[in-house]
Amino acid sequence: MALVSMKEMLAKANEGHYAVGNFDVFNIEMVTGVIDAAEETRSPIILAFGGEFEKLADIGDIGAYIRSAAGRASVPVTLHLDHATEFSLVMRALKAGFTSVMVDASFKSLEDNIATTQEIVKICREYGVSVEAELGHVGGLGFYDEDQDTECYTVVEEAARFVKETGIDALAVAIGTVHGVYKREPKLNINRLHELKEALQMPLVLHGGSGLSDEDLTRCVANGINKINIFTDLTLAAMDQMKADADTGLNYLGKCTNVRDAVHKVARDRMQVLRSAGKA
Ligand SMILES: [Zn+2]
Repeated sequence: MALVSMKEMLAKANEGHYAVGNFDVFNIEMVTGVIDAAEETRSPIILAFGGEFEKLADIGDIGAYIRSAAGRASVPVTLHLDHATEFSLVMRALKAGFTSVMVDASFKSLEDNIATTQEIVKICREYGVSVEAELGHVGGLGFYDEDQDTECYTVVEEAARFVKETGIDALAVAIGTVHGVYKREPKLNINRLHELKEALQMPLVLHGGSGLSDEDLTRCVANGINKINIFTDLTLAAMDQMKADADTGLNYLGKCTNVRDAVHKVARDRMQVLRSAGKA
């Protein structure tokens, strides 16, 4: 299947009351593991690449690889840039054929977040590319003081203004999740999520989806989340597999293949919880 835009993919999720998994990937094991899981469960998927992954792989090279893999896949795939904080990275993604971009100016003031997001929306529209932006703070990326993060829930009135003035296709909301490994039990503000969905009636995104219980993920989907970002769960499964295989005498190819299969298993499990299984 050819790549699809995030706008098209999430419109269906919004209508069908399910969430699509946004899996952050940076190598062949992760890309093929997630695509295998999507084909097995018949799930639409979002494969995302982030700026920090450029330490390992060129965005144009990995973009070409994912586009090729998506072309062979039998399920819809969106190629998404995660957490762009600089314009030049967005341009590299657009040139690499990405079909979706997340601009993250959530650490700026509301006015500056709106202005930055408007600029990215304008350029992305020229390429026919969807845009996600974030309002409120989902912590864990080191942009701000972590101890204050949980209080930075998205404000409904601000979100309504933000969406109206920027014209974004999806909004990442802060309702108590954090990126990376949870150091304490996450306290989700489902009531706030419900209010945001009522007011905005559009696809909402949850970052920090790794480490949430199945019950929490299910509650988020039931209250209007249509895209859930998952990265840490994949990397923990991959690293556990590497540890298990460390002294087995298995060669490198065998170990990488096992990592692919470990990613496949955890991605498959999440697709079922998010209810994207069977929606492709
Ligand atoms: Zn994120």
